[in-house]
Amino acid sequence: MSLLIRGGTVVTHEQSFRADVYCVDGKIAAIGENLDVPADAEVVDAGGQLLMPGGIDPHTHMQLPFMGTVAKDDFESGTAAGLAGGTTSIIDFVIPAPQQSLLEAYHQWRGWAEKSVADYSFHVAITWWDDSVREEMGELVSKYGVNSFKHFMAYKNAIMATDDILVESFSRCLELGAIPTVHAENGELVYHLQQQILAKGITGPEGHPQSRPPVVEGEASNRAISIANTLGAPIYLVHVSAEESVDAIRYAQNNGQHVFGECLAGHLVLDDSVYQDSDWGRAAAHVMSPPFRPKGHQDALWKGLQAGTLHTTATDHCAFCSEQKAAGKDDFTKIPNGTAGVEERLSVLWQKGVNSGKLTPNEFVAITSTNTAKIFNVFPQKGAIAVGSDADLVVWDPAGTKTLSADTHMSNIDFNIFEGMQVTGIPTTTVANGKVAWQEGELKAKAGDGQYFNRPAYASYYDALKKRNELAAPAAVKRG
Ligand SMILES: [Zn+2]
Repeated sequence: MSLLIRGGTVVTHEQSFRADVYCVDGKIAAIGENLDVPADAEVVDAGGQLLMPGGIDPHTHMQLPFMGTVAKDDFESGTAAGLAGGTTSIIDFVIPAPQQSLLEAYHQWRGWAEKSVADYSFHVAITWWDDSVREEMGELVSKYGVNSFKHFMAYKNAIMATDDILVESFSRCLELGAIPTVHAENGELVYHLQQQILAKGITGPEGHPQSRPPVVEGEASNRAISIANTLGAPIYLVHVSAEESVDAIRYAQNNGQHVFGECLAGHLVLDDSVYQDSDWGRAAAHVMSPPFRPKGHQDALWKGLQAGTLHTTATDHCAFCSEQKAAGKDDFTKIPNGTAGVEERLSVLWQKGVNSGKLTPNEFVAITSTNTAKIFNVFPQKGAIAVGSDADLVVWDPAGTKTLSADTHMSNIDFNIFEGMQVTGIPTTTVANGKVAWQEGELKAKAGDGQYFNRPAYASYYDALKKRNELAAPAAVKRG
């Protein structure tokens, strides 16, 4: 099983050069010009286009049971949509119900994901706490390749992790060599504002952003970062959407703290005017948390990416169709939260980031693939074009054009938040595990072709953090 991708310009997070790439049994076997390959190798002619590491989306929710329904894109349609957009791996979330065993939930999600057409891995959410949770976190790290745990600081009366849970869990993460991640919104304030806004008679989607203003995210970001700082743990903030959070991350980084930030393609390009749409369905289709922000915040996110304050881009792909959104017809707090995007992320970032001159193609690779692989400890297996790396690649036509639309996307829903956006820069062939998985609009990979990938604990990195904590511990005061 071998594949030669010929005539492309390889673009990695650090350099660009002309080379052919030869893949054998799912791995990159050789990189160079005039490679000596067997006569029966399959050939993809890149025709002078770019060849980049396949995208890794570190934040998706396929088939998620949430707010009384289940997300429409399952692991098969969702990962297929990813391949159609040049994304070859996702890191999804196992979200145990409160009191549910973490391992039981993990196995449930693994079962659902078996039909994936592209590779996947899982963060596991900490939604409650007792000694069994502490134990099972250890087992997930040592036996199941999980090195990140997610904490929802929002969703009171459901899956919210309160401060006592954050402290316990972040400490446990540090012991295990796992990274804590947070959805930073103050759940108490959201709950309070929701009741206040409903009491004023505001029931439409415009109430959604009013109940979750940027300050609510900024407070939680600062709190999570401060807790991590006190414990000496690193921290990763998912879907940073507000300038307040970017400021909090930058401040902590400037003070020597290990803080990582992710932002979403949607938050980079859309603003909160979407909630003023006179069409209820269109406004409701944009309901996700955190919400789209007032104008100005998008600019802060771009600058965060450019400066390296923010490291990764994702989508929070969690697709609900109009029928599902209608559950909140009379009460915006009941509109299932979520939007799609796994298929559009790379093209949107190329169009708005690279074509505008904000990002170089190498920086594009860093924020769509390599940084995620590094932070979640799968580099250079993924996120790289190097001998021995997984052969997950995208042939990218920087001159190819497309209009993004629900009429043509592969996702299972009837709405596209990027509807009508013209992009220049599109995938032409996506290679996953050394095979052509998608080409010119045609899905070639099949259900079950995707494989689970392990993410090992961070040994040496954490040793350094622990050492720093020991040094920082206050010395005993000697008296008289
Ligand atoms: Zn999410």
